[in-house]
Amino acid sequence: VLVRGCRWVAVATVATGLLLGFGALNSAAAADQPTGPADDVRLGVRLIPPFVVSEGDRLGGFSVELWNEIAREAGLRTTSISPSPDVSALIGAVEGTRVDAGIAAISITSERKRRVDFSQPMFDSGLGILTATPANSASADKSGGSLFSRVFSAVLSRDFLQLSLWILVVTLIPAHIIYFIERQRRGGMVSHSTYLHGIAESYFWSITALASQAENSPRTRVGRGVAVVWMYFSVIFIAFFTAGVTSSLTSERLLGTIAGPQDLPGNRIVTVAKSTAAAYLVDQNIDAATVTDIDAAYRELAAGRADAVVYDAPVLRYYETHRGKGHVHTVGGTFHKEGYGIALPKGSPLRQRIDVALLKLRENGTYERLVVTWFGSENS
Ligand code: GLU
Repeated sequence: VLVRGCRWVAVATVATGLLLGFGALNSAAAADQPTGPADDVRLGVRLIPPFVVSEGDRLGGFSVELWNEIAREAGLRTTSISPSPDVSALIGAVEGTRVDAGIAAISITSERKRRVDFSQPMFDSGLGILTATPANSASADKSGGSLFSRVFSAVLSRDFLQLSLWILVVTLIPAHIIYFIERQRRGGMVSHSTYLHGIAESYFWSITALASQAENSPRTRVGRGVAVVWMYFSVIFIAFFTAGVTSSLTSERLLGTIAGPQDLPGNRIVTVAKSTAAAYLVDQNIDAATVTDIDAAYRELAAGRADAVVYDAPVLRYYETHRGKGHVHTVGGTFHKEGYGIALPKGSPLRQRIDVALLKLRENGTYERLVVTWFGSENS
């Protein structure tokens, strides 16, 4: 029994020793990891608020903070951060392995996937439309009251008042003709032969006839002939008048209201060169001016040189609720859904570790916390 007991002790001791030895080896390997060259990452970024923003001499933003969490989780060390002037230059830097990873608001597309690898999607996105909010109609632009106010302002417009005055003057012509014809006759339409009273009567007739509401009509043959011509004129006048008011209201509506992607054609659109938004617009045959960064697009909109900006919806929504608050608003929701990914050189050994870290951050709530910090709860 004693011998057998000793043997067990010996086996246990050896086993413990082995385990401890492995443990020591393992922890040595773990301690090595953050400093080994394979764990050093040269990061490429692209300024695109609020995903990558410059905060003084440092970089911040959702994507930068997410990257820092991923790096901590995966044991990676960011040795350098280099900004690219546009998203396609960033993809190029990753493809040419001038950087080991690229993060910004890079949409995963088939064309880019041919050139680089992507991590799991790190953010749900898509395209959106931003328009300027007219200075004095912050709340009324889409409400039911707007039609009323547009009709009201159309009726009070200078053109309309001028036209009305003109009509009142022209109407004096048939009034005079009828006055001179009918006052000669007993039982004629004009019962007063004095000029002022007589003209008042015939003028009332010609005005009401213009709106096809005359109660009276001339009695003489010549007078009736004039009345027929005048009524004919009134029909044409009413038709032109209705068409004029209608078209001025609809064209104002057509040009003034962009409610979604279907309203983009024919408006002055601006977008960012090399972006998926630019590719979308080309694809849809919608003419658009391009600028190199989104801030320039916001300036075009503010200066009234563009009717709408088409770009990444979360980027536009962030601008709407921050710097552009009160001056701009997004319309039409998110269309053309896209996912953002971290771009990696083809076959990068980092991909598996980044994906695991990303999933871990989603599981432990870190990802959610970042989304809420930057975008509020409606995006999470
Ligand atoms: N999500 C856009 C894209 O990947 C961003 C474009 C940009 O960074 O300007 O094309």
